[in-house]
Amino acid sequence: MNDKTLFEKIIGGEIPAEILYEDEVAIAFKDINPQAPFHVLVCPKTPIKMLSKSTVEDEKLLGSLMRIGSSIAEKAGFKDKFRVVVNNGAEAGQTVFHLHLHFLAGRDFAWPPG
Ligand code: AMP
Repeated sequence: MNDKTLFEKIIGGEIPAEILYEDEVAIAFKDINPQAPFHVLVCPKTPIKMLSKSTVEDEKLLGSLMRIGSSIAEKAGFKDKFRVVVNNGAEAGQTVFHLHLHFLAGRDFAWPPG
């Protein structure tokens, strides 16, 4: 039985993605259905299902994910003008149950978010 999530398959190289960054603990790739001109997903390689399932042991990793996305946005010309979103649970819009941070930029953003 193959119960890997889509993002585990991307991490494992089983399905392609436009990868922008990778290290031992994290990977960042372009969202296939971008919601802004710049839309990058940053994931831990370890399969944490969602933010609320993370533990104190994940604190350093969670910080790294933020900094990786910020750095990619800055390199793309969006320093100081991007939004970070984490959908936590199906009711919040999460569809892939492998933690990921959305980094979005390149357009105006409304508040409150939809
Ligand atoms: P979420 O709804 O927060 O779980 O976000 C899942 C995101 O994964 C969505 O923005 C999708 O567009 C994106 N996505 C789905 N399949 C792929 C894929 N094969 N490569 C890149 N991004 C994907």
